[in-house]
Amino acid sequence: MRLEPETQARPHPYAGGQAALATMHRKERAIAPTLAEQVGLQVIVPRGLNTDRLGTFTGETPRAGTIEEAAIAKARLGMDAAGLPLGLANEGAYGPHPQIPFIAAGVELIVLVDDARGLIVKEHIIEEAPHYDHAVVGAGDDLDAFLVRVEFPETGLIVRPNGRDPIDAPVRKGIREQNALMAAIRDAAREAVDGKAFVQTDMRAHVNPRRMATLTRLAERFAARLARLCPDCGAPGYGMVDVESGLPCAGCGAPSGLVRFEVFGCAACDRHERRPRADGLEAADPRHCHLCNP
Ligand SMILES: [Zn+2]
Ligand SMILES: [Zn+2]
Repeated sequence: MRLEPETQARPHPYAGGQAALATMHRKERAIAPTLAEQVGLQVIVPRGLNTDRLGTFTGETPRAGTIEEAAIAKARLGMDAAGLPLGLANEGAYGPHPQIPFIAAGVELIVLVDDARGLIVKEHIIEEAPHYDHAVVGAGDDLDAFLVRVEFPETGLIVRPNGRDPIDAPVRKGIREQNALMAAIRDAAREAVDGKAFVQTDMRAHVNPRRMATLTRLAERFAARLARLCPDCGAPGYGMVDVESGLPCAGCGAPSGLVRFEVFGCAACDRHERRPRADGLEAADPRHCHLCNP
């Protein structure tokens, strides 16, 4: 692979440094190895953090603000606990796919907060096939198809009474054993108004291998970004910040909806530049053209 000029020569400003990663769910397994390898940054997990008080997937504590705000707040929690000026955090959001209803999708975001340089570097990834699913079942219902689909028991499950507010309903999390699951469903069904249990995938990374794998891919992409230093100011994290559409149609030359340029930018200074698509595509197939294929 060709080394980009901005990854060569200069020693990385984070080499030999430490960053606090705020996690209760062993995300260091996905994040620490690649940051050590690509940047030389050591990831520290402060003990005794309660990141759940910033919001949970299951809704007992609603998350305030955007996922980016939540991730930055979480990173700062870890920095305070560890007494470090450098912090990392990940935040994910899962729900219906934006284009395809009834299909789940997720977005995972990772941020690095650098108070010494006044810098926030971020990277995200879209997970098109997450283990994010739920079922509404009565005690004794056949759950096999659901359990196979979500890869239980490798993926943990959460059970609660159907139709009740998560703030005051009893919730059982991290279930990875058949008998415990059946007992939880029985108990939850008894406490529900309609006699049903709401069973859903536990999205916490340590009990959701698909999510941990997604975080590993995100961490690799993020480490590659951190490794690139801004050609102007030398700040870490130089990379794609936007795209411009309008790739010309191969048939008629009109701008299509496909990406034409990748916009690279620095998290610390104003430097921006347009780059051709990384995949080398220079023209759009006419089926993407609103003139050739109205
Ligand atoms: Zn065309
Ligand atoms: Zn810069």
